[in-house]
Amino acid sequence: MTFDRSELIEEARSTGTVAGLPRGHFIDGRIVASVSGREMESSDPGRGAPFASVAAGGAEDVATAVAAARAALSGPWSRMTPAARGEILMRASQLLCERAARFAVVETLDSGKLLAESEGDVGGVVRTFAYYAGAADKLQGDSVPLGPDYLGVTIEEPVGVVAQIVPWNYPLSTAARGIAPALAAGCTLVVKPAEQTPFTTLMLAELLHEAGLPDGVLNVVAGTGAEAGAALVAHPGIDHITFTGSVATGQRVMRAAAEHATRLQLELGGKSPVVLMADCEIETAIEGVIGAIYENAGQICSAGSRLIVEKAIAENVLGRLVARVEAMTLGHGLGDAAIGPINSVQQLARIESHVERARAAGNRILTGGSTVRPEDCGGGWFYRPTIVLARGLDDPLVQEEIFGPVLTVQIVSGLEEAIAAANATSYALVAGIYTRDHAQAWRFARAVDAGQVYINEFFAGGVAMPFGGNRKSGFGRAKGMAGLRSYCKLKSVVARL
Ligand code: NAD
Repeated sequence: MTFDRSELIEEARSTGTVAGLPRGHFIDGRIVASVSGREMESSDPGRGAPFASVAAGGAEDVATAVAAARAALSGPWSRMTPAARGEILMRASQLLCERAARFAVVETLDSGKLLAESEGDVGGVVRTFAYYAGAADKLQGDSVPLGPDYLGVTIEEPVGVVAQIVPWNYPLSTAARGIAPALAAGCTLVVKPAEQTPFTTLMLAELLHEAGLPDGVLNVVAGTGAEAGAALVAHPGIDHITFTGSVATGQRVMRAAAEHATRLQLELGGKSPVVLMADCEIETAIEGVIGAIYENAGQICSAGSRLIVEKAIAENVLGRLVARVEAMTLGHGLGDAAIGPINSVQQLARIESHVERARAAGNRILTGGSTVRPEDCGGGWFYRPTIVLARGLDDPLVQEEIFGPVLTVQIVSGLEEAIAAANATSYALVAGIYTRDHAQAWRFARAVDAGQVYINEFFAGGVAMPFGGNRKSGFGRAKGMAGLRSYCKLKSVVARL
């Protein structure tokens, strides 16, 4: 197996794939085929062509994986100290650091994202495992003052078997931000990666096993949402569901969870605002806006997909933004382009239909607004970075998540109107503001409904900062100590002395 970065890139370029990918589910400590024997293909979005096949799981595979996870709850894993669990996570972090190039190249082939972005994601996952390695033995409860005749304490216990459903836009990072804290808390898991991007999650399961995780503690079932995903969230052997994906699927998962009153956390979509006040540092703000919407070709739940700009600087900002965007190159994630492909042909069609509807309704498209075929990319799936002016607060471009490189622009007259515009959708995931006036920034931070607010740097933070949404963006928190407590159930114990 190759771990060298340039050799891997050369292998991927010349063969269209990399050798040694896990092709089955990871259940009870080993790679296995589907009970049905079925397989599915995963495509390289940069070429628009299949690059590897993997097992396609169904209800039988899910049942085997859940049984393995339940059995592992009372196996050697349950007798390990929190510190010993932390050591396994730390070894996994180190192994991943050694193999970062392999994970990054596979992530780029599977998801389409630029290699530099995949490398950034893998680096973040190395840090995620290190963070939760250190947190495993710090899950302390409280002692509660009940007077001289009682002793009251709270104990954080692992919630049990966790089902995690992962989307295709950040396959490894999203899987890791559930797996690492759940393992630190002492849970076991069954993870279902998105059908478009199964490989790095399977590789992570192999790696964790190599780092010392006992059999059955982490299981991965590949397959579609309709088959493997639906069977997993409906399984009575699951104690907690972590779902990341679209609102419509999240609502379906919520209904399935209700059947067995299963605990649930939902990380859904967004239509997040980036506010530029007239006094902002314009160059910094423009780079912030570009990163917020065009990273991963806009396929980010927390993308800054709405630019809310104060009228006094709107013309200047839009002129510079359009010039900057028109200089961006598109191409395969393994090349040196500024924007990579869209993950699937279906997602490309969704983006196109949003923009075509806006064009028909009379929205002014300042740049982009079409698909494109970069030279070296065969039948790859690409959409030009696009900027469109909104027609009002009820414009679908303001209200609906597009999940692509499309920036909607709203022009406002001051902070109060910016806050009203920021809060005018049913989503509430993240929000950003650029201003030199910190009092203004903090007024915005207090008034905006969002799980996280960024001041003068969009996406600032990291694994230590809790992440999650409000309203249609979901509920529950990943990352940070809040993410760890998501995988715990609190027990109160009171003794009469
Ligand atoms: P999706 O809802 O179609 O699929 C997400 C996952 O759910 C996939 O693994 C899919 O196989 C599975 N799934 C589908 N139907 C299912 C069912 N009936 N039961 C159980 N699982 C099922 O979403 P997507 O198109 O893959 O991802 C894009 C969406 O995810 C966007 O709306 C985006 O905003 C959101 N997202 C949110 C976050 C966040 O942290 N808030 C992060 C990434 C993506």
